[in-house]
Amino acid sequence: MNKIKFDELGLNELVLHAIQDLKFQYPSDIQEKSIPVALEDFDIIGQAQTGTGKTLAFGAPIICRMEKSTGKVQAIVLAPTRELAIQVAEELKRIAKYERIKILPIYGGQSIAIQISALKRGVDIVVGTPGRILDHIRKGTLKLANAKFLVIDEADEMLNMGFIEDIEDILSNLSEDRQTMLFSATMPRAIKILSKKYMKTNTKIIAIEKKSMTVAKTQQYYYEVNLKNKFESLCRILDVDAPKTCILFCKTKRGVDDLVVALQPRGYSVEGMHGDMKQSQRMNTLKKFKDGNLNYLIATDVAARGIDIEDVTHVINYDLPQDSESYVHRIGRTGRANKEGIAYSLITRGESSTKRRIENDTKSVITKKSIPTMLDIFAAKSETIIKSIKLTLAENLYDNFIPLGKILTSEFGADDVAASLIKTIFYSGVNNNYSDDSVSTEGNVRLFLSIGKMDEVMTSDIIAFLCETANINKNELFNIDILEKFSFIDVPKNLVDDILRNSSGHKLHKRRVNIEVAKARR
Ligand code: ADP
Ligand code: MG
Repeated sequence: MNKIKFDELGLNELVLHAIQDLKFQYPSDIQEKSIPVALEDFDIIGQAQTGTGKTLAFGAPIICRMEKSTGKVQAIVLAPTRELAIQVAEELKRIAKYERIKILPIYGGQSIAIQISALKRGVDIVVGTPGRILDHIRKGTLKLANAKFLVIDEADEMLNMGFIEDIEDILSNLSEDRQTMLFSATMPRAIKILSKKYMKTNTKIIAIEKKSMTVAKTQQYYYEVNLKNKFESLCRILDVDAPKTCILFCKTKRGVDDLVVALQPRGYSVEGMHGDMKQSQRMNTLKKFKDGNLNYLIATDVAARGIDIEDVTHVINYDLPQDSESYVHRIGRTGRANKEGIAYSLITRGESSTKRRIENDTKSVITKKSIPTMLDIFAAKSETIIKSIKLTLAENLYDNFIPLGKILTSEFGADDVAASLIKTIFYSGVNNNYSDDSVSTEGNVRLFLSIGKMDEVMTSDIIAFLCETANINKNELFNIDILEKFSFIDVPKNLVDDILRNSSGHKLHKRRVNIEVAKARR
């Protein structure tokens, strides 16, 4: 079967040339179905998953059909967030590369004065958030007299964010003689009502089946975790996979902040993104992530909605979303544009029914994986080290170091020298959370316990005491030192509060144990 090519869709030469430069081989389903219809001026309701190329689906036909260099706003694209507005504007600019078309993103948080002067200089397509677009319409700084195209992108998300009234307001300000294209991943009732009210009666509905390339190209796995070990489990997963670009999802803004604060001291390259953060901060973080200067982005659903980043290798649901739609959106951040991606979900026992529902709704299987053991981490890390050493050997650019090597091999066997060097590298990495006894030291806090040899306690007594009173796992306790009158123990940072709250003050061997964070490390 022959696949439809871009040049069979009716687009003009300049747009086709730009698409060629983008190296897109074939139109995606939504593009194939929407573009010819949009070129014939029909209103369109397009339903397709995130990551299926909707921007080009509406952008290319608009760019083909608009008048060139009039300097008057002919098209308005509504997007739910600043990041999306910018992203859509950038994609449109790429498509309009060979045309004289000015495209401007406008959104809340940016100086309105800057936007006003840009609008004055002449703009053909405005991409913006509904609130700010409305501000400009009301001020008279955005004139709609020539607007012939309206796009409502990510309509369901704008609905969720409470933009429906703003959108209606914008719609009723526009000329009826316009083309409207509405795109949405889902079709809640409110959107159907909106489209009935404001779109033409011969509107074409284009729904692309759920089994989008997004889900198909993403391998989905889950880890069963218990709440107390969730963070440690995550660290182990990250250490074994060492993802280069990974988005982690949390349920709440607070959850995002907490996870960032917990991961950073362990040496992970991580930043968070959510609605309470300053616009400039969010943009900064996103840029770093896009440029590859940040490995882990932690976000809420809303903050990450629709963000398109090339080559996201992993999506991790640190918190499982409540509904299947969000799940699909989240994992749609990876495996985009026909690249393979991996999605992990951390699932507590109570969440297994949610997981089953997601599997049912998405007609996919989420495969179980076991939390990596210390041995797995050791193996993964060793493999990386061996690989990089082999690379250095292959490059053969270490003449300066040969005399140093000889000093060592004259005294020790080559195996010993190599092993000791590997060990040195092993424990010098950025994420060196595992010391010699498979013990985590970096993200840990040393606790002081007011009980010691004098009280005839042994290591196992203290471990049992903490495990029982604070309901934690003995794998999470490290480096116990029992001294005469007191003891010290390392515990992961996230368990400190639990231990102080639940264990301190309880009795062990008939003595009340007082627990505090130790003043300084040994
Ligand atoms: P959506 O709006 O559906 O979430 P986007 O328009 O943001 O999707 O596109 C997702 C990514 O896929 C972008 O990086 C875009 O450049 C790329 N893309 C768009 N169309 C194609 C295509 N036909 N082939 C390959 N990649 C494409
Ligand atoms: Mg989009």
